[in-house]
Amino acid sequence: MGGSQAPAQQTISGSKGLDFAEPLIFELGEDGRTGVDLADVKVSDNRLGGLRRKDKVGLPGLSEPQVVRHYTRLSQKNYGIDSGFYPLGSCTMKHNPRVNEKIARLKGLGDLHPMQPTSTAQGALELIDTLAHWIKTLCAMPAVAMSPAAGAHGELCGMMAIKAALEDRGEADVRKRVLVPESAHGTNPATAAACGFSVDSIPATERGRVDFAAFKAKLGPDVAGIMLTNPNTCGLFENEVIEIADAIHDAGGYFYCDGANFNAIVGRVRPGDLGIDCMHLNLHKTFSTPHGGGGPGAGPVVLSEALAPFAPLPYIVHGKDGFDLVEHKADSDAKPFGRLKGYHGQMGVFIRALAFMMSHGADGLRQASSDAVLNANYLRAELQDQMSVSFDGMCMHEVLFDDHFLKDTGVTTLDFAKAMIDEGFHPMTMYFPLVVHGALLMEPTESEAKETLDLYIKTLRGLNARAQSGDAQFFKNAPVLTPRRRLDETAAARKPVLRWSPDAN
Ligand SMILES: *Cc1c(COP(=O)(O)O)cnc(C)c1O
Repeated sequence: MGGSQAPAQQTISGSKGLDFAEPLIFELGEDGRTGVDLADVKVSDNRLGGLRRKDKVGLPGLSEPQVVRHYTRLSQKNYGIDSGFYPLGSCTMKHNPRVNEKIARLKGLGDLHPMQPTSTAQGALELIDTLAHWIKTLCAMPAVAMSPAAGAHGELCGMMAIKAALEDRGEADVRKRVLVPESAHGTNPATAAACGFSVDSIPATERGRVDFAAFKAKLGPDVAGIMLTNPNTCGLFENEVIEIADAIHDAGGYFYCDGANFNAIVGRVRPGDLGIDCMHLNLHKTFSTPHGGGGPGAGPVVLSEALAPFAPLPYIVHGKDGFDLVEHKADSDAKPFGRLKGYHGQMGVFIRALAFMMSHGADGLRQASSDAVLNANYLRAELQDQMSVSFDGMCMHEVLFDDHFLKDTGVTTLDFAKAMIDEGFHPMTMYFPLVVHGALLMEPTESEAKETLDLYIKTLRGLNARAQSGDAQFFKNAPVLTPRRRLDETAAARKPVLRWSPDAN
C-alpha cells in the first residue's frame, strides 16, 4: 500500500474507468425513440370509446444498443460468488459447481410443470424421493418434509408440526412457551411468535454456548420446546446438546434444531443421534445453489417418529404404479397439519442439491465440511493476534470476532467493513450475532483457495495496522472507490423510493 491514498477523483462523465455511471432507464433516451421500426397503424374503428389513452404512455424511448448497454452495465454492478470472495457468516456463500446448472437445465427437468399428471413426471418424483433418502441418511432421521421453500419456511413447518403434535396430545393450550438462545438467528423467535408461542430467551455462557443451568431452570409444564442452532451462530458446537435434548424431552417438550449450519458437520455428525425432533436444512447453503437477494432456496425439514405423522401435504408415496403424491387429508393415513405452499417444493433447488451430493459422494461431502472448518480455523489462527476472537478454542465453519481490537481507535465495525469494500472484499456479517459487541462473523466455506484466504488475511491485517496507527479518518471516508459511497441504509429501508416520476427530477 504505502503512502496516503489519493482523494477520490472526480471525472467529467461521472464514470470511473470501466465503472460506468448509469442513470435510471427513465432518465435515458427521449420520448418517441424506439428500437423497432413498425409501420404506422391506421386507426379506423376505435372501439375503446372514452377509455382511449389521452396522455403519453410514459415508457422510456431508447434505441436497442442503449437498452443492451443499460442492462449489461447494471448486471456488471452485481457482486456475486462468481466475482469474488463472500465471507458472510451464517450465509454459507459457496461456489456452485456448473455441473449442477447443466443438470438443472436438462430437458425433462428444466421444462417440467408442477401440474403435470404424476404418471408423466415419475422421474422428477424419483429425484425428490432420492434426495429425501440422502437427507434422511445424512441426518439419521426417519422422515423429511420436502415442501418448505427456505430455512425460515422450514422453521414454520417444524413449529407447526410441534403445535399439531401438542394439539394431538391435548396440551396445545398449556404448552405455549418456546425457549430460544439469545444468539439465535432472528427467524427463530419470529417463527415461534408467528405460531402463537411466547419466546423465552436463554442466556449464553462465557464460552458462547447455551447456559445449561439457566436452560434447565426455565423448563416447566408450559414449555413446548426449544429452538437451538447447532453449530450455533457463534460458530461453536453446542457440547451439551445431548443433555439439552434429554432435558427437553423429560420436560415433555420438543427439540427444534436450526440446521442452517449443517455445512460444518455433514458426514461427521448425524443430527438424529443428538436427539432432535425436527430440523430444517438450507439446501441453498449446505448443498450449493446460487442464493441471495431473497431466493431461491429450499428448506426441507427432517422429522422424528414423534413428529413424522404431522408432516404437511403433499408428500410422495411409493404406489402400486410407481410414485404418487398424497395431496389431500382424506387420502392420508397420517395426520398432516395442512399444506405450506402450492405444489411440492423448489424443484430447481432439489436438482442442484442432489447433483451436488451425488457428484461429491458421501466421502466428498465429509471432505467439504472438514475443509470448511479448516478454512475458518485458518482465518482464526492467522487473525487472532490482530483482531479479537470472541471465544477461545477451535471454531466450526465460521469464526466470530468482536470490536475489542478497535477500542480507542475511533473506528467502528461498520467503518472497518467499508474500508474492506475499497480493497475488493465483500464484508463479513456485521453486528450479528448480538451476543458480542460489534460482531464480525466470517465464513470462508470449503470452496475458497488458500491464495484467496491469504490475500484476505493480508488485507485485514493491513487495515488493522492502519486503524491502530490512528488514521480513523481514512475509515470514516471509506469507501472511496465505489460507484456510491456511504448510503443512508436506514432511510433506504424505511422510506424506499420505488417509483420514478418525471416531476421529482
Ligand atoms: C440462513 C439462516 C436461517 C434462515 O434461512 P433462509 O433460507 O434465509 O430463510 C435461519 N437460521 C440460520 C442460523 C441461518 O443461518
